[in-house]
Amino acid sequence: MPEAADIRNVIIIGSGPAGLTAALYAARANLKPLVFEGAEAGGQLMLTTLVENYPGHRDGIMGPDLMAEMRAQAERFGAQLVQRDVDAVRLSARPFTVTSDGATQRSRSVIIATGASARLLGLPSERKLMGHGVSTCATCDGYFFRGRPIAVVGGGDSAMEEALFLTKFASHVTVIHRRNRLRASKIMQEKAFANPQISFLWNAVVEDILAGDKGEVTALKWRNVDTNETGELAVDGVFVAIGHTPNTKLFVGQINMDPNGYILTHSGSRTNVPGVFACGDVQDHVYRQAITAAGSGCMAAMDAEKYLEGLPQHLGEAQMTA
Ligand code: NAP
Repeated sequence: MPEAADIRNVIIIGSGPAGLTAALYAARANLKPLVFEGAEAGGQLMLTTLVENYPGHRDGIMGPDLMAEMRAQAERFGAQLVQRDVDAVRLSARPFTVTSDGATQRSRSVIIATGASARLLGLPSERKLMGHGVSTCATCDGYFFRGRPIAVVGGGDSAMEEALFLTKFASHVTVIHRRNRLRASKIMQEKAFANPQISFLWNAVVEDILAGDKGEVTALKWRNVDTNETGELAVDGVFVAIGHTPNTKLFVGQINMDPNGYILTHSGSRTNVPGVFACGDVQDHVYRQAITAAGSGCMAAMDAEKYLEGLPQHLGEAQMTA
């Protein structure tokens, strides 16, 4: 049976703005958090270039630099960060357990900040040009395309929302959808159809994204899935808006989620399992911003602290297992 000293106060899974802000607050509350950063540490901001909407950075900051700052700040106050993926968690008994690379850690509380991944088309050129004309976030990158033609890939609400938002900047927006009907809600469809700056390329898939000498997007290659007709569309930007997938595989069957796999939270960051908290994009499919993720990470750390304060002191596993 482990001694109370072997049991951690809080383990944080994930190291985007939510996880690292939770780590900062938990560290400053003297909870000595252990953070599993994951093999792809830093989250979605590692795939972006200039971030201009994170308050406090008047001239913007590169996504990876912002994450390096957050990481260093959390470490400065004593957060312990390990760049490993978590392989398994057990949230059905106390203390909770988190297993990584064959080693199992016990913890009184767990903060889930595993984020969501933007679905990608899977083209090699897409990954190569990410941040150089290819983007998954209009709110983040639309501003860079003032007066330039761009394409949005997808037919759902996200694609319509991105297309409509991008008309504020772009000279023209072409929506490329693999079918001849949109999946988006009627109201979003109507808005998009009514906007003269948006046109549609139906039944088409993107087969390649082309770059010029400077390594910036210049065009995309499309193919009509019915006729196999192919063509090139000159664009300076390609926004991939084909949905997001919350990174919740580890928690399936252990915690309440919505039908799309997002973790359900209530009263701040609380999940249906007392002592387990969720923050950032893993529980938010609406706002999805670095600043909202960071804010919810702060909430999760404070909620965890409050939860821990309510536990009897010096608990061993026997007492913890209710
Ligand atoms: P979604 O509804 O799943 O739509 C994804 C779109 O991308 C679909 O049109 C799909 O085509 C297409 N797609 C998927 N994989 C593709 C691929 N590999 N290649 C090409 N196209 C592909 O995702 P979402 O638009 O992100 O919306 C997710 C949820 O959030 C929805 O419930 C939505 O209503 C909600 N949401 C609401 C709002 C709002 O109300 N303002 C805004 C954003 C999101 P098919 O249609 O052929 O499957």
